[in-house]
Amino acid sequence: MSRYAYVNGRYLRFCDAKVHIEDRGYQFGDGVYEVCEVRGGRLIDERRHLARLQHSLDELRIRTPMTPRALGVILREVVARNRVSYGNVYLQITRGASRRDHGFPPPDVPASLVVTARPLNLARNEALAASGIAVISVPDNRWDRVDIKTIGLLPNVLARQAALERGAREAWFVDKGGVVTEGASTNAWIVTAAGTLVTRPADHGILRGITRTVLLDVIKAKGLSLEERGFTLQEAYAANEAFVTAATQVVLPVVRIDGRAIGGGKPGPVATALRSEFHRFAEQS
Ligand code: PLP
Repeated sequence: MSRYAYVNGRYLRFCDAKVHIEDRGYQFGDGVYEVCEVRGGRLIDERRHLARLQHSLDELRIRTPMTPRALGVILREVVARNRVSYGNVYLQITRGASRRDHGFPPPDVPASLVVTARPLNLARNEALAASGIAVISVPDNRWDRVDIKTIGLLPNVLARQAALERGAREAWFVDKGGVVTEGASTNAWIVTAAGTLVTRPADHGILRGITRTVLLDVIKAKGLSLEERGFTLQEAYAANEAFVTAATQVVLPVVRIDGRAIGGGKPGPVATALRSEFHRFAEQS
């Protein structure tokens, strides 16, 4: 089946979808992105993802190319054209194409917008959640504005690759104080021996995950105990459970950290319950 992408005003066959070589995303990583889960052909938490997109654009002073409503129409059209029932939709906005120069381009240069969508394998994702994943820890060597969802992801790319090369699925960044910040593309959580959920506050040191935000609602509704604070790697090794959250992965149990089994090396009941409750609390549109 043919795939389609939206590129700067046009829906194109995937093989014909291209951006200019002087696009600032390509040359400087000067852009932002969002990824939404698609379920039953509907977007999960579109409103929150587009609000975070606006935050990223505002912080980088990239002009918003269109209203969230217009963007929503394009997202849905790309999902429909690619016949995605379960999968994700990706959008990227850069500061546009202009002669290479570090300073911002002239004001008449429009931002570039690209949207793609692809199906994912639900059964495979469920199997992964049922077995749990291994993570490794790596030093957090990112800049101090990782609350902005920029396409400049080199530390995350290297961290993920290090994880894969060590037989793990995700890398957890650890700051200079030994405190876990987040994963290469996920937020990090533990459940302590006392049954308290712990995750780092969403300051500038992590991306405010949309899955994380919705999960806070689930936790509140279920009356679970929660502490929004940093946790150390040592605490994580000793935790009853650990898990990561991200759109399309929802809640994914972590059963090994740096080769040490967590909670007996099996997905725990808290993570499993939160995963199954998540979509009752997420918005669908
Ligand atoms: N942290 C980082 C660094 C990410 O890249 C992501 C997702 O891409 C997340 C956390 C999870 O965010 P969300 O739940 O919005 O997918």
